[in-house]
Amino acid sequence: MMGPAHSLSGAAAWLGVGAATAAAGEPMPWPVLVVGALICAGAALAPDLDHKSATISRAFGPVSRALCGVIDKLSHSVYKATRGHGDPRRNGGHRTLTHTWLWAVLIGAGASALAVTGGRWAVLGILFVHLVLAVEGLLWRAARTSSDVLVWLLGATSAWILAGVLNEPGNGAGWLFSEPGQEYLWLGLPIVLGALVHDIGDALTVSGCPILWPIPVGRKRWYPVGPPKAMRFRAGSWVELKVLMPAFLVLGGLGGLGALELI
Ligand SMILES: [Zn+2]
Repeated sequence: MMGPAHSLSGAAAWLGVGAATAAAGEPMPWPVLVVGALICAGAALAPDLDHKSATISRAFGPVSRALCGVIDKLSHSVYKATRGHGDPRRNGGHRTLTHTWLWAVLIGAGASALAVTGGRWAVLGILFVHLVLAVEGLLWRAARTSSDVLVWLLGATSAWILAGVLNEPGNGAGWLFSEPGQEYLWLGLPIVLGALVHDIGDALTVSGCPILWPIPVGRKRWYPVGPPKAMRFRAGSWVELKVLMPAFLVLGGLGGLGALELI
């Protein structure tokens, strides 16, 4: 899928989690619902850090472009080193290491650890990166035609404001993990979820997605998970624009209402 569909599915997924936790008796305070949905929308672009022309590689100028080159090389080496007998040879690292459940969990756990140990600046950093990505993903065209610096300013000011809102008592710094010292431990959850939703979205497209790595399937360690061939679509096709994106909007809206216990 393309950037906007990934981001929209990420936001919808977090709103759905909000509805589920509300039903389970752990309702999210509204700032957790909003910030989580934005982080998840941003995190749903992150796996494409292995692909030079993806939205994320342009999001932070030369910094993300350089990181993208490194991740591409790293992914390719990991692919070559762990290739099973049934896995084809390949030239680049796109849709390998960063498109697995293991990567999603490691990135999310890393963000949680950073948020808990690094204090306010770490939280601001995590928010900034994901808010910029959320703007790039959700407001795709608008972000492309405006200057990068404006998008970064928007990300920085909203990170500052939202961190202030979360910090107010009862607003969600300690949501789900309420022991002292566990503030913002939940920040990793929308990051894991965003990456997984991205992988599932890619799995629906023609080439599939090796989500299960390193768990082998038959002779393949990088088995491309996906539905039967007839049910797959091309990235950016009408199915994505006219069917999936409106569906994500509706589901996200329902999830949000459920999360706020309005339905
Ligand atoms: Zn992808």
